[in-house]
Amino acid sequence: MARVRLYVEQSLAEGQSVSLTREQAHYLFGVMRLGPGDDLRVFDGVSGEYRAEISVAGKRGGSLHCIEKTRPLQVPPDLWLLFAPIKKARTDFIVEKAAEMGAARICPVQTAFTNSERIRRDRLQAHAIEAAEQCGGTFVPEVAEMQRLERVLAEWPVERRLMFCDEARVGACDALTGKRGPWAILIGPEGGFSDTERAQLEALPQAVAVSLGPRILRADTAAVAAMTLWQSSLGDW
Ligand code: SAH
Repeated sequence: MARVRLYVEQSLAEGQSVSLTREQAHYLFGVMRLGPGDDLRVFDGVSGEYRAEISVAGKRGGSLHCIEKTRPLQVPPDLWLLFAPIKKARTDFIVEKAAEMGAARICPVQTAFTNSERIRRDRLQAHAIEAAEQCGGTFVPEVAEMQRLERVLAEWPVERRLMFCDEARVGACDALTGKRGPWAILIGPEGGFSDTERAQLEALPQAVAVSLGPRILRADTAAVAAMTLWQSSLGDW
């Protein structure tokens, strides 16, 4: 049986039929070579996962219908990943890994030394969807619009802790223990944080500085390491 998984925007329920977009039809019928009567798994990010069967397969569209629920929605822990976008391929990597590792929200932030001024939010969101399809997730983290770090910190929610990954803080590693609740991870750009940003972070009571070891990691490596550390001490691992 085909193990194809597809995210759809329409909300799902048993018996529900779903019409496919041109891209979805191309993927299912052109790339994966599925046809009428074939099985696949679908999820909408809110109602869990369903086994579905293809009803109509066309070149520019088609439809399927949900047969039975196969898994409930599994929401990841309340963890946001804030990162300063770097080169395109590495930014794509960070978004893909954040979705796989169980981030609930992905927030690109512009810092003083951020390498890229712009992001294509829709493209990054598509990467998060693809990662969820691939890793068996039933939830898709939202990729937020890019915001200035300074502003994000100025409006930081009182109840959310911030794991500030700081290469200058060698040895600070036990700061996470026991502190449950909403969290965010902050990874800086290749050029690191500016003095003003550091001062703002130091003044934020919710910020907890954390070291990821004595070596300076690239931002994409640091993002994966930080999510590993957080998930294994406070998350759903
Ligand atoms: N300013 C550094 C490079 C920054 S690395 C320099 O050029 O010397 C990019 C980001 O990854 C940092 O801002 C930090 O958030 C994170 N990072 C990298 N290595 C780390 C470490 N050993 N501990 C904690 N965070 C780290």
